[in-house]
Formats: sequence, C-alpha cells, structure tokens
Amino acid sequence: MKNSKYVIGNWKTNPATKAQAMELAQFLSTLNGQTKTVQVGCAPSLVHLDAVSGLLSKTDILVGCQDICAFTADVGAYTGDVSAAQLVDTGVQFVLVGHSERRSYYGESTILLTAKIQQALHADLTVVFCIGETKEQYTAAQTLTVLEEQLAILSSIEVPASKLIIAYEPVWAIGTGLTPTVDEVVHTHRHIQSVLTNMGLSGVSVLYGGSVNASNAGQFAQFDEIGGALVGGASLKADSFAQIIEAFA
Ligand code: PEP
Repeated sequence: MKNSKYVIGNWKTNPATKAQAMELAQFLSTLNGQTKTVQVGCAPSLVHLDAVSGLLSKTDILVGCQDICAFTADVGAYTGDVSAAQLVDTGVQFVLVGHSERRSYYGESTILLTAKIQQALHADLTVVFCIGETKEQYTAAQTLTVLEEQLAILSSIEVPASKLIIAYEPVWAIGTGLTPTVDEVVHTHRHIQSVLTNMGLSGVSVLYGGSVNASNAGQFAQFDEIGGALVGGASLKADSFAQIIEAFA
C-alpha cells in the first residue's frame, strides 16, 4: 500500500443487492489513477466481495474484507468462515480486525483478535486494526488507557509496520452522528503513535473513524496526525464518499 492518507469505506451488511454494490464499485473505479495523495479502499459485504474485487482488480482502489478466519490461513472445517488464502485468491488486500461491532455483537476476544491478525499476516494481508473506547470510558477520561490495553495485543505478534493500519473509532461515535473534537482526535492519535513507537512500530497510519461525513471530513483532514478515515454510512453514497476523499486529497 502506498504512503499516503487512506479513505476506506466499511460497507458492513450493505447494500441490499449485488446490483447496488456493483454500482458503488463502478463509481470507485472511476477514481482509478485520480487519487495521488489518497489511497481509497472499500470493504464490501462478503457476498459481494468477489464481484467487487473483480470489477476493481485493474484499478488502484483497495479491496478488503470485514472479517477473517482465526483458525486457519488455509482451508479447513470452519463452517461459515473465510480464510486468508481464500481472500488472497479473491484479490483482497486488507482485512478489518477488531471493529467494535465484531467485539460487541460477536464477543470477539483478545485471543480471537490476535489469531485473526496472525492469519492475515501469514497471507501477507494488511490488517486494519480497529480500537476505540465506549461512551462511559470516554466520559470517565479513560480513553488513552483503554486504547493502550487494546493496542497491547500487537506486542505479542510479529507485525511488520508496513502491514498495519490503526483505525481509532470511538464506539460512541460510530453511526451516531457524534464525534470527538478534532483536538481530541489529534491528541489521541499522538498517543497511539507513541504507544506504537514504543513497540517498535513506527510510521503506521492511524485513521479516524466514527460519523465521518462530507461536512466534517475537512476538519479531520487538515492534520498530519490523522492518516485518513474509516467511513461507514457515508461510504454508501457515491457523492458523500467522493467529498470525503476530496477532503483528504
Ligand atoms: C464504522 O463502523 O467503521 C464507521 C466508522 O461507521 P460510521 O462512519 O457510520 O460512523
């Protein structure tokens, strides 16, 4: 992945039809070669992944998966799961690990997240590792401590900095229209960078995620500390996603 800012769309369990997913992918394909200072990516739903990846295969748009099998990087008896090898064969370049929806709805533990990161690295996939505090933790001024705890799993894995991206996503900002102030995000990102540096991980991009939209992207984009955005809802509409990309460019 090139050394620039990232704007990555997390499509979650959207859109409803393959035709709509392909329409979004078609729009992304029009950005090919136009985003010199921004690396654009998307993480479609699993059922649309192969078709979207095929459409974008000859472009510089990154395609990622929202999840990965923790138990094998190859093949095996893991019903409902998709392995690193299968993702690589599908043209996938990165995986999301640790998204708060996976942590809360699926109870993903530190042990499981560690295994997922290991399987992804085994297949040379880039890991977008998501971290973030809850509203209660934010209100109790525990954000930095919580993030340190979440980042600690990286010290038990041999992660090359070149294969790691961090997405700081306050849980309370995801899908709510709420965001921390830009000053808070910059302060938090500086702290994340210093924790990473202490682990020997320098030069890792730290993205912000949580209710980024066409109106607020510009304020986040101004700061070097904010290496880009992981975008949920606003990545599902071509015009708003295009404006976010433009802000980071
Ligand atoms: C996300 O879930 O990764 C996210 C950032 O969602 P939203 O932009 O909708 O808050």
